[in-house]
Amino acid sequence: MKKFITLCLALLLSNLALISQEKDPVIENIIKEANENSELQNLGHELMDIIGPRLVGTPQMKKAHDWAVSKYGMWGISAKNEQYGTWRGWERGVTHIDMVYPRIQSLRGTQLAWNPSTSKNGVTAELMVLPMVADSAAFAKWLPSVKGKLVMISMLQPTGRPDYNWEEFATEKSFTKMKEDRAAQTEAWRENMQNAGYNSRTLPAALEAAGASGIVTSNWSRGFGVNKIFSARTKKIPTVDLELEDYGMLYRLVESGQKPKINIVAESKELGEVPTFNTIGKIQGTEKPEEYIILSAHFDSWDGGTGATDNGTGTLIMMEAMRILKKYYPNPKRTILVGHWGSEEQGLNGSRAFVEDHPEIVANVQASFNQDNGTGRVVRLSGGGFLHAYDYLSRWLYAVPEEITDEIETTFPGAPARGGSDYASFQAAGAPAFSLSSLNWSYWNYTWHTNRDTYDKIVFDDVRNNVILTAILTYMASEDPNTTSREKSILPINKRTGENREWPTPRSPTRKGGM
Ligand SMILES: [Zn+2]
Repeated sequence: MKKFITLCLALLLSNLALISQEKDPVIENIIKEANENSELQNLGHELMDIIGPRLVGTPQMKKAHDWAVSKYGMWGISAKNEQYGTWRGWERGVTHIDMVYPRIQSLRGTQLAWNPSTSKNGVTAELMVLPMVADSAAFAKWLPSVKGKLVMISMLQPTGRPDYNWEEFATEKSFTKMKEDRAAQTEAWRENMQNAGYNSRTLPAALEAAGASGIVTSNWSRGFGVNKIFSARTKKIPTVDLELEDYGMLYRLVESGQKPKINIVAESKELGEVPTFNTIGKIQGTEKPEEYIILSAHFDSWDGGTGATDNGTGTLIMMEAMRILKKYYPNPKRTILVGHWGSEEQGLNGSRAFVEDHPEIVANVQASFNQDNGTGRVVRLSGGGFLHAYDYLSRWLYAVPEEITDEIETTFPGAPARGGSDYASFQAAGAPAFSLSSLNWSYWNYTWHTNRDTYDKIVFDDVRNNVILTAILTYMASEDPNTTSREKSILPINKRTGENREWPTPRSPTRKGGM
């Protein structure tokens, strides 16, 4: 019996090998075009260098949407911007920060997003740091002393070297000691904040109300010279983030009684309430036009860098795959859509809006592929909790060159996402959407929401690899004689409740945000 099974398996494998050896001209063309006529570098240059970061509500975000529509137009793909809501309109201006006392030094820093403008001359004031307090009464007593001062509200980091650098060069003893000291310092900082009665979210507003001239933070991302840049929590006064060592130097000067002063010029424009969009492109299907494959990547970014890997690279993959598909597979069996979602960073708003506004499409999604975790080649693919995802995904993957699929670890049936990126919006609605999950390339520390998420971090060979993968999966999903199963697996038991986890349900987007 065992012999018989082995024989059958051998026959099956040799048949599959025969099928794969029969070259499919569409697949051959996809690979050739991606490798020999890549548009990725041009697209990357235009999006990251010319347009720049794409914070929701900024003119650059709108410019990016218009750019995508015009690119698709040049490739003969119909595309449009679909408005789904509005957001506070804002545009970043010049940030220039200098230490002006006890000596002159220009500092590396960034105004946080949606922070109102300073005057042209900016704010010049003395810096102070937070006191150690026993309780909220002591903090309340201290609070009036911030009047007219710039308050530094981040902990002084004991080292600007990332842990991997310590691990490489420090003695084990000194690495361990550094980590223990830092952990103790972090805990003391947290306790002090708790004693004061605030947290990092509520403190800036309290300082502003007490008359502070501005807030200085340093949100270190645990890599050399890299900080995360999010939004400001003050309404009128400037909030700026300084790089670790500039912040550290000022902090030490305050502590040693030098009374350092800095000048902050942080200009920006308020632009009122502006529309927000998704860009949707389409290659019309011929045999089953009412069934869809959706290529998916959020288009917006934070704006400390240029959003090159979050999510410039995901955007590039989907645009380039669409360009190649239109060229070599112009009459797909099913309709191929691409969604460049707006405002993912504030809660998957664009994709949630699309799911809510287009139930007829969502009900007929054959498959959707989303990419949104950096520049790396795809190394993980999960079935997203769909019970039969293995049947079709593994069949489609079989058509992809081995040098690409060899790198991919699959998980079936996997589990649906509860957030994280736009495929979660589709999975929640029961549509078979999958995340093409990338190799890390130091994403979390160095590029994700940082001031260093820039063009130079793009690994074009890996992105090209992902274009080939995405285009072939799309082609195979479109050509598949069967409609994909959406049957959901029974999710594992939640240890806390003792009951099976439930499938996530669709959530409504923020249609009017940041106001
Ligand atoms: Zn992202």
